[in-house]
Amino acid sequence: MIRFEKVSKRYRGTSKPALSDVEFDVQRGEFVFLVGASGSGKSSCLRLILREDTASDGRVVVLGRDVRGLSTRKVPYFRRHIGSVFQDFRLLPNKTVFQNVAFSLQVIGSSRAFIQQSVPEALALVGLAGKEKRLPHELSGGEQQRVAIARAIVNRPQILLADEPTGNLDPGTSIDIMQLLARINAGGTTVVMATHEAGFVDQMQRRVIELSGGVVVRDERHGGYGDTSGLPVLTPETVKGAAATAALTAVLELQKQIASSGDTGPVEPLPEPVEPPAPQPDAVLPPVAVVRDAPVASESVRAEEQTSDAGAPSSEPDTGTRGIPITPADIDLTDIDGLGAADRLGLGRRDDDEVGPTA
Ligand code: ADP
Ligand code: MG
Repeated sequence: MIRFEKVSKRYRGTSKPALSDVEFDVQRGEFVFLVGASGSGKSSCLRLILREDTASDGRVVVLGRDVRGLSTRKVPYFRRHIGSVFQDFRLLPNKTVFQNVAFSLQVIGSSRAFIQQSVPEALALVGLAGKEKRLPHELSGGEQQRVAIARAIVNRPQILLADEPTGNLDPGTSIDIMQLLARINAGGTTVVMATHEAGFVDQMQRRVIELSGGVVVRDERHGGYGDTSGLPVLTPETVKGAAATAALTAVLELQKQIASSGDTGPVEPLPEPVEPPAPQPDAVLPPVAVVRDAPVASESVRAEEQTSDAGAPSSEPDTGTRGIPITPADIDLTDIDGLGAADRLGLGRRDDDEVGPTA
């Protein structure tokens, strides 16, 4: 799903490469921690995956595409398959929680009906049901990050990238966010999270790729993160591979049932707030809210996207899956200048040339 082949990155005006011969392969459905000290190259890796930057040497293959081969106009479509969250949340300060999440659907031309259904589902998934009308400054840091996560996943990306998402949060809140990411991962989304925070990584017991000076020095399937003996233990270790696998299996089963029954109605939201894990080994994660039309594990682009992107003539507004079209003209762009959202989401140009996974 994400493959680095001898990737090096040299920034202009620097003598030492930020990344040297980095190689790893992330499979669909994996949860991967990218760890290392500040300056070790974590953000550089994420930027290469998102094609915000290109490698100096080597190949970065994402969703079956050598991202270097993507033309500039295809990049926004490619990025629709990738959600991203950052340390500083990057919410629109004058928009409500609902509007912040809806925004990323509006800019890609989703229908109002689709937005009205998908946004509450995403907010329920992150435990923010009932807070739709709040403004970002009326939320805690952890809640703001949940909004950012809801925004990143509302379009059901195949990959979620998180760059130090807990960097501005206290330890307890950080654990909540990590468990939320684990739950999103259990729903089938591939998650790559960059962090320098050791304690959380140990507790999650997931794959760890460690960078040091731009070189991969460790790639462990269920590794911890160095010596954490000096760190306080925050919660019992609970998110085990077996539990996540069980949750994923249950989710996929439910998705199949929904797909075969044709039932596209709303699903049960997650309990809110997110419960702290029960202190028992191999505790099964709470069920993941199944998002309507969520992809069953498959490398193909969702039919919805093929309809909305590949099929729609560029002269017509994209109606999303169903219902009333919202054109980019409906959206007030003044808020998003500087956030990079317009570019990331392909706003401002309709293009019938969908970029999707090919393998
Ligand atoms: P991390 O996210 O692990 O802190 P980064 O990927 O941000 O690391 O940075 C890796 C190295 O690349 C650092 O030495 C940093 O100074 C350098 N670097 C990152 N971005 C740029 C840039 N745009 N121009 C020049 N050097 C950069
Ligand atoms: Mg960084």
